[in-house]
Amino acid sequence: MHPPDADAVLVRHGDIGIKSRSVQTRMEERLAENLRAQLDARGIDGRVEREYGRLVVHTDEAEAATAAATDTFGVVSASPASVVDASLDAITDALARAAREHYHGGTFGVDARRAGEHDFGSHDIGREGGQAVWEAVEDDFEPEVDLDDPDLTFGVECRDARAFVYLEERDGPGGMPLGTQRPLVALVSGGIDSPVAAWLAMKRGAPVVPVYLDLGPFGGPDHEARAVETVRHLAKWAPDEDLDVRHVPAGDALERLDADVGNTRMLSFRRFMYRVAERVAEDVGAVGIVTGEAIGQKSSQTSANMAAVAGATALPVHRPLLSWDKQEVIAKARELGTYRDATIDVGCDRLAPAQPATAASAERVEAAEPADLLDWAEDAADARDVIELDPVEVEA
Ligand code: ATP
Ligand code: MG
Repeated sequence: MHPPDADAVLVRHGDIGIKSRSVQTRMEERLAENLRAQLDARGIDGRVEREYGRLVVHTDEAEAATAAATDTFGVVSASPASVVDASLDAITDALARAAREHYHGGTFGVDARRAGEHDFGSHDIGREGGQAVWEAVEDDFEPEVDLDDPDLTFGVECRDARAFVYLEERDGPGGMPLGTQRPLVALVSGGIDSPVAAWLAMKRGAPVVPVYLDLGPFGGPDHEARAVETVRHLAKWAPDEDLDVRHVPAGDALERLDADVGNTRMLSFRRFMYRVAERVAEDVGAVGIVTGEAIGQKSSQTSANMAAVAGATALPVHRPLLSWDKQEVIAKARELGTYRDATIDVGCDRLAPAQPATAASAERVEAAEPADLLDWAEDAADARDVIELDPVEVEA
């Protein structure tokens, strides 16, 4: 829902506001750039203007531009709005027009905010604006004001010489603008967890470099296709980033682990995986690894086993889902749209021994594995190729 003459989008951001002034400016610039990329990717004409604490998109396509803004990390909320002069007359006129179009009975309220110098206060906007709405609709309805929980809220934000009038604040993802952190390698399996973990890292501003380990006879082409599809889905939030999947051959290593190692082989494979990720990270300038691991989700993810495999990489391993229940991850995956691309059991269940170790020590894991395991991992990483993503089409 938007005012009949909506010609802009008012974009609000959150965590950026707690930074120092200079960091804040840099982050707002980055947010503006990312938003421009998002508009470009969707073929939306719009001019992005940065103003203190807000971005404004001037556009004839306010609905589509609002959707683009709410798919941009760092955006807390966005409102398709009409821009008018910051005078009580102009504001009350705009409110009356919006009311005639969108008020169909029930309670309403005017929520007014103000920044800058004006000869009226926000309570004046509320009072006169409420009056204007009332007069616009009283012939056809019996309007009722409710300031606590109205059926319809008329928003007014008066900023210096301009005022924005809107009817909705649509939620964005929040977080920080993508690209304000150094990149991370994201281990993506084609399962449910890893795309959600990668998305959460991106949400905090870190671009991700997706790495998929091809499990050879222990996996299947469907795994790879799903991994690529889930990543392609993530590209919707990152039109400016290279999300091409780095495809690493790991089948030979798995065959050797399967033949030579007992109930700690899954843990050796995790060590292998971390070392692959570390090697790719060195090449692409990434500073950490993101995985979809959660404490206790599988035997290889007990707190003890995470400790046992930690020595395989010097990079920090970020686990945004550490404390999430599977149902919570599934709910988020559905919301993001990655769930339907990931509804088979993946990971490397075909490698799992009947009785996997749940509390191995690093010494035990390393003693049982081939001495050159981590060297193979580096060789496998060096043998990677790149799967280019098809462009994503976003419905307007
Ligand atoms: P997901 O965790 O993606 O839903 P899964 O639960 O089957 O899949 P796990 O065995 O839980 O996979 O693996 C834990 C994490 O290890 C994954 O979240 C992912 O980050 C990484 N991982 C597992 N398999 C692969 C793979 N083939 N390629 C890249 N990363 C992988
Ligand atoms: Mg998992």
